[in-house]
Amino acid sequence: MKKTIIFSVMSAFLLMLLPFSTASAAAPTPEGQEDEQQSTTITRDGTQPPIEGDEETFTGDVTVQPLFEANEDAPISGGLVTFQPGARTAWHTHPTGQRLVITEGTGWIQEEGGPVEEVSEGDVVWFPPNVRHWHGASSDSTMSHLALTGEEDGEDVDWMEHVSDEEYQKGQANDEEEQREDASWSEQQEQVTLISAFTAVGEMDSLEEAIHEGLDSGLTINEVKEVLVQLYAYAGFPRSINAINLLMDVVDEREAEGIEDEDGPEASPIPEDSNSIEMGTEVQTELAGEPVEGPLYDFAPVMDDFLKGHLFGDIFARDVLDYETRELATIAALANMGGVDSQLQSHLDMGLNAGLTEEDLEQVITVFESDVDQENAENVDELLQETLDNRE
Ligand code: MN
Repeated sequence: MKKTIIFSVMSAFLLMLLPFSTASAAAPTPEGQEDEQQSTTITRDGTQPPIEGDEETFTGDVTVQPLFEANEDAPISGGLVTFQPGARTAWHTHPTGQRLVITEGTGWIQEEGGPVEEVSEGDVVWFPPNVRHWHGASSDSTMSHLALTGEEDGEDVDWMEHVSDEEYQKGQANDEEEQREDASWSEQQEQVTLISAFTAVGEMDSLEEAIHEGLDSGLTINEVKEVLVQLYAYAGFPRSINAINLLMDVVDEREAEGIEDEDGPEASPIPEDSNSIEMGTEVQTELAGEPVEGPLYDFAPVMDDFLKGHLFGDIFARDVLDYETRELATIAALANMGGVDSQLQSHLDMGLNAGLTEEDLEQVITVFESDVDQENAENVDELLQETLDNRE
């Protein structure tokens, strides 16, 4: 008797449970849609089972968590799709387009004919109607996205062929290219640091090596030349002219060896009606963060004119190098010259104003430690700490 009651209660319970869970996993019936339209509905987390991505429409491990179906009032369905590294959709289109919100990880997407683009958490993607595309994880990261897909005549996707490994691997090539670009930028920074440090003290053998490596890293001949021209204002004409002579010899030697170094753009001519002092005051104020004045300039006003008009006007305003690079060169030269802590500290501050990061300046210290001078490296380290404290 007791057993029978338990059995019948359980049967009733199972009977209630089964149709309910089946209904929630399947597409809602028209009646279900009406219900949803007429009352507030909460679909509880975990009540809609995830679906493995079909191998006809996906490559690799893909899990689709259905969230909501399209209905008459809002003809857009929502799903959370998780791709394991290397996994992606096949090529496909959507009749009314699709929005993706990347919720986790890093992925690759591509519109046919366009580049493979990297997307990561927080990025939002729009694929217009009927544009062939694919989306997936990158080769070394998972990626999850919320997919909001419009429906037309009950259809929301038209599947096509798989994305081949060759097509997919173009994302990999992009990543490597970006990494190479980053690497070459910091390599160029390192060489500007070395070229400037050795020019300032006339260490010609080390300078020769740094010029070679600078050109190898992709600095143009005119960029290296411009660093050396600027340094005359800090290290004097003799050091600057010796270094430019050396650059000339190195360029000839490399040309004779068949190495093709790029000349790169030359400085644009300064407009005829421009006034060096006005232009230089603007540059100096921008880099210093405030107008530069003080008793020294009252005592020797001509120095103020030379600094503003010549250094910041005629030299800094030339467009071959950006302010970041000019400040990097100045910092490295002053750091190796010694006895100019006050100027070095000003330029550490101006470098940060120009866009050099704390990491860039720490790299200067590392380069000094390994290739220039240990004591000068420690000095820059101390001055940088003071500069950063003052800026807070
Ligand atoms: Mn899509």
